[in-house]
Amino acid sequence: MKNDEVTPEWVTGNPTGNLIVISGPSGAGKGTIVKALLDQFASIHYSVSATTRDPRDGEVNGVNYWFVSREDFLHMRAKNDLLEWAEVYGNFYGTPRRRVLEAIKRGHDIILEIDPQGAMKVKEQFSSAVFVYIMPPSPRELSRRINDRGTENQEAIRHRLNSVACELGYIHEYDYLVINDELKEATADVAAIIRAEKWRVKRNAHLVGLVWGVDLRQGTHEKI
Ligand code: ADP
Ligand code: 5GP
Repeated sequence: MKNDEVTPEWVTGNPTGNLIVISGPSGAGKGTIVKALLDQFASIHYSVSATTRDPRDGEVNGVNYWFVSREDFLHMRAKNDLLEWAEVYGNFYGTPRRRVLEAIKRGHDIILEIDPQGAMKVKEQFSSAVFVYIMPPSPRELSRRINDRGTENQEAIRHRLNSVACELGYIHEYDYLVINDELKEATADVAAIIRAEKWRVKRNAHLVGLVWGVDLRQGTHEKI
C-alpha cells in the first residue's frame, strides 16, 4: 500500500486487509457475484458507494448505495470524503474514503465494485490493490442479461451497451479476468483469487520473520 494513510504491514507487524476492485460491463453480473461472495464469506466487507442515480426497486439506502443528491455528492467530493469518484452513464458515483481505510487497517478485505475510471484512481493510490475484471460470455448474453434485469429503460440500456467497447480499453490494467458464464463457477473463481492474494509473499514475509527472528522486510537480504 502506498497510501500515506495506511502504514504498511511490514512496518506495523499487523496484516492489513486487501482492497479488491471489481469492474466490468453493466449487466456482466458483478453485483450478483459480489452478493454471493458476501453471503458466503463473513470476513469480506463491501464498500457502499455514494451515487446520484435513482434507486431501483428493492435497492436500500446504505445497503446497495448511499443515494444522494447531486449537491450532496459535490459536497462530499469537495470535502475530500471520496477515495475516488467518476461520472458513469450520466450519474456521479464515488467511494466513501473512511470506511475503506478503516477496514483495511483492521485487516479486513474489502470489495469496491466500481467503473474502470475509478479503478485507475484507486490504482494510483494503492499499489497492492487487486483488480478483477468480470466479463459476460458473449455480447448477446450481456444484452439478454441487461434487458431481462429490467431495471433500465431502452435508452439507458443502449447507453450502457454502447459504453462496453470503451470500458474494455482498460482491461490490461487489471490483474485477473473472470468470465461469468456459470454463476457458481465465476463466484468460486473470484473467491479463489481473493484467497490466493492473501498468501502473497510480500504480505506475509514479515510474519515469517517474526517467528524466525529475522528481519524479512522488503528488499533486505544477505548473500547466502
Ligand atoms: P452488474 O452488477 O454487472 O450490472 P448484475 O449482477 O445486476 O450485473 O447481473 C445482471 C443480470 O444478469 C441480473 O439479472 C442477474 O441475475 C443476471 N446474471 C448474473 N450472472 C449470471 C449468470 N452467470 N448467468 C445468468 N444470468 C446471470
Ligand atoms: P449501476 O448504476 O448499474 O449500479 O452502476 C453503474 C456503474 O457505476 C457500474 O460500472 C459500477 O461499477 C459503477 N460504480 C458503482 N459505484 C461506483 C463508485 O463508487 N465509483 C465508481 N467510479 N464507479 C462506481
